[in-house]
Amino acid sequence: MRRARWLALACVLWVVTRVGQAHAGDPYLEWYTVKTPHFRVHYHGGLEGIAQRIASSAESAHERLVPQLGWAPKQVTEIVVTDDTDSANGSASTIPYNVVRLFATAPDDMSPLGDYDNWINELVTHEYTHILQIDNTSGLPALGNSILGKTFAPNQAQPRWILEGLAVVMETEHTSGGRLRSSQFDMYLRADVLEQRLARLDQISNPARRWPGGNLWYLYGANFIGWIVDTYGPDTYAAVAADYGASVVPWGINRAIRRVTGRTYEQLYEGWRAYLERKYAAQKQAVLARQPLMCCIGRWNPKIVLTCRNSNAPPSKTASISSAFPFTRISSRPTPPNVKSTSTTRLNAFRSRTNLASRASASIPAGGTRSNPSMNS
Ligand SMILES: [Zn+2]
Repeated sequence: MRRARWLALACVLWVVTRVGQAHAGDPYLEWYTVKTPHFRVHYHGGLEGIAQRIASSAESAHERLVPQLGWAPKQVTEIVVTDDTDSANGSASTIPYNVVRLFATAPDDMSPLGDYDNWINELVTHEYTHILQIDNTSGLPALGNSILGKTFAPNQAQPRWILEGLAVVMETEHTSGGRLRSSQFDMYLRADVLEQRLARLDQISNPARRWPGGNLWYLYGANFIGWIVDTYGPDTYAAVAADYGASVVPWGINRAIRRVTGRTYEQLYEGWRAYLERKYAAQKQAVLARQPLMCCIGRWNPKIVLTCRNSNAPPSKTASISSAFPFTRISSRPTPPNVKSTSTTRLNAFRSRTNLASRASASIPAGGTRSNPSMNS
């Protein structure tokens, strides 16, 4: 009897503390819903415009992603849009029903998410990829769900780099932005490869304990899975999700990928590592072969060259400012013939305005190699 009383007290305390932790949100918000054939977009007052755009983007994503990922959800997907944070993010889950949560905020310029063309399209593509991959359930797990309610999602039981990696591959393939186009992301990976500190498969399969933290899952996962898809075909992950989604025993990720590609993730990782080493070694060689002038440019105006030196020469072999002009920026858009380069025109105008060239040639002896103090700033 005494034990029963203690048990009852524990239950009451548990309920009370759970109620204390609940977050009901702003009770003054009024909520509305936009319905489309495959989605219900829930939003609060003030977000009507963005909810309409999300609904349109989601239907477009459904049309493009379902054939590629080989799965169409059996129910509509709920999308909840809120605007109570400055963080640009979203999330997706499939149990007990498919739901995507989106923040209305776009990323800032310095964010690894900063390479996007249309933020809504990219975010919706990313999160809906999660839904289509994780919701892919058949065989005995699907039978269990039909009896017990939606309880099993074998594809959820995978390392984060697989889930996030595929979503980043899709956000890149289906938009003109995406993290696989991000020069910042590419720089992170290139540095790891050239410095021979590529993270191991076990390191990215667990909570990140090294820089760049959780971005490891997105950075390594996207590049690795992108390489697998490029190597084994665009349908690879539709086949892997279908195989793993019918599996009763979780964590057999190597069995699923081996049935599709003939190789385990450990074997594929070594192939990817060799590919990266070849790729970035070739990039490095190409850069070194250019022997360009390494120019220190003005922070307030990058079109102003403060000083230049041959990148292969020791730092003391600094060229004079006057020898750096006219400076032609490397651009993906070539200057049409008979049109003077804008950067050259502006630089010449700047030179004549500030008399920079004459001051430079006056202060630096002819043929001299003195370092310009401003280069060190
Ligand atoms: Zn994600």
